[in-house]
Amino acid sequence: MDNLISEISHIGLNGSLDLLVGDFNARSPIWGYGFEDRRGQIMLEFIASNNFSICNRTDLGPTFVCERAQGYPDLSLLSIALQDLFDSWWILNKDSLSDHRTVTYCIGTDMVSVGACQGCPQGSVLAPHIWNFYFNDVLLLNNDRYFLQAYADDLALVVPASSRKVLEESVSSFLDILKSFLKELNLQIASEKTLAVVFRGNQNKNRQKRGLASLKRSPIFKIGGRTIRTVDSLKYLGPNWGTGVSLLKHWYLSVIQPSLLYGAAVWGGSFTQKQINILHSIQRVALVKISKSFRTCPTNALNVFLGLPPLHVVANSLFIKFKIWNARCDDYDFINTNNLDFYIKVNNLDLNFRLIEFPINIPNADFDVYTDGSGIDGNIGASVCIFKNNILVNSFKFKLNNYNSVFQAELAAINFAAGWALENSYKINIFTDSYSSIEVLKKVNTKSNYINVIKNNMFRAIGSVGLSWVKAHAGIPGNELADQLTKEATIDGNLLSLPAPYSYLKKFIHSYVIDKWQRHWGDSNSGVRVREFVPFVDSTLLTHNRALLFFISGHGPFPAYLFRFKFFNSPNCICGGLGDPDHYAFDCSHTSDYHFTRPAVCNKPAWFKSILNNPNALLRMERICSIARKICDDLKSLDLV
Ligand SMILES: [Zn+2]
Repeated sequence: MDNLISEISHIGLNGSLDLLVGDFNARSPIWGYGFEDRRGQIMLEFIASNNFSICNRTDLGPTFVCERAQGYPDLSLLSIALQDLFDSWWILNKDSLSDHRTVTYCIGTDMVSVGACQGCPQGSVLAPHIWNFYFNDVLLLNNDRYFLQAYADDLALVVPASSRKVLEESVSSFLDILKSFLKELNLQIASEKTLAVVFRGNQNKNRQKRGLASLKRSPIFKIGGRTIRTVDSLKYLGPNWGTGVSLLKHWYLSVIQPSLLYGAAVWGGSFTQKQINILHSIQRVALVKISKSFRTCPTNALNVFLGLPPLHVVANSLFIKFKIWNARCDDYDFINTNNLDFYIKVNNLDLNFRLIEFPINIPNADFDVYTDGSGIDGNIGASVCIFKNNILVNSFKFKLNNYNSVFQAELAAINFAAGWALENSYKINIFTDSYSSIEVLKKVNTKSNYINVIKNNMFRAIGSVGLSWVKAHAGIPGNELADQLTKEATIDGNLLSLPAPYSYLKKFIHSYVIDKWQRHWGDSNSGVRVREFVPFVDSTLLTHNRALLFFISGHGPFPAYLFRFKFFNSPNCICGGLGDPDHYAFDCSHTSDYHFTRPAVCNKPAWFKSILNNPNALLRMERICSIARKICDDLKSLDLV
């Protein structure tokens, strides 16, 4: 002890030691023990002589709990100089990996958690050291056949293979190597948390054309005999990882667009035509790359094909969103900002209110309460059903505004139930089928004012309320009844006025974007042919097939196109007809094996949609385009043009 103290004192000599947290194994009544031992005495002397103050709150219970004993050995000491910045000290009620509980404190605006001494809970101060000492070597397993990458405490493994069998074998054998490597470090791979995504290479174009691009059955990977789940896409570090053009679209939306529109909330108010054109020419580069279309294809058409709105419209929507949500501007008449939820600075809140957890079950409860919320035809309702000994004794129905969310309704019902219990000094167990409602109460950084008001209410109910999740539509009578009453509540419930959530604003902004984009598309001079097939813009549309893109836009390997852009002297096909896209899709004798029936003008949009979702039709379109391309090559080599 003396050694330790002298060592610490040495570090802290020049007053540089601000915060000291540790297990000192010293006892004193000052931090919770019933008596003082010699170590406690030394500790107190050290604390006094170094101008430290003790942050521990003995009222929160011991910091160390095991089966045999409990105690207060963990001290958080803070220099007097930092005293003003100190906000609160708290023991987290979550599982730690040791007998010591997780201590959390706020200094300034930072929240710091100090975890246990053994193991390494996520976010603990030990994590980087654990990584450096133990985990780093795992990357040495990399070689030509496997690529292992580590992000935080996650590992990503990339394995290329020529066939499914080889892939299965190499992945599983590597995972076994990894497993035994980690076993030496006393670490385990959680097979239930491990996911696999299979990407099919595009080298084998012929197989793709024969519709064999997907594997006959998904490969199966195992860790130590346990199968891991194979999924189509997975969300990792933000973006979704999956196959095809949707990945590029996602990448555009999550990386390119935000960087192009940085600060648009400020500069996106209004644009001159010149500025709009500049924005389009910037966006165009990305659109051409994603769609792999010809460079002459009009930007407006590419926007529509890929379901990516023009930049100036998106910039404008960001500006409006900022004006409404942050600046509380009432110039836009779709909602009064007084009826709109807002974000609060959570750091200013007492940590006690930010971490709320309810037990699943309170013993000897007076009532069982089932809550529910739902939306039917845009009408939102919530209900609370109170049971005693499985007999319904009371129920409440609420109707919310149309702009409220079902999630808000679920929370409102739970909140009402807790309030009802408090008011009448009852003890109740609440059952909800909304898992996210339970989760949001446990979240420390929820910004929504509405949710924080509810958390504040619920905080007072700690001790008299149990909260648990029940499966919806599983025949649990209380839940079924609550569900039934909620449906009625959407029509005749008591009006409950709650602020509109942020999601409502987002929905409005989305429809604003679509509306403005639609007008821009309708007014545009270019893309006349495309408009016949795609008259209405749609952000979910994604034209992933290049041949279809050539056909619809007309910008593709067609003599008429090459003539229009002055590469050819004649627009005619080798057969003598006008060599435009329609000629090859419907008329030309060279493509007769693959012809489509010519759709009537009014059917063109439906025709386009049906081809887009029909692999067989897309294949025919590809054949038509490759024949047209060959005809162009022939025309050129014969010097007929
Ligand atoms: Zn022809």
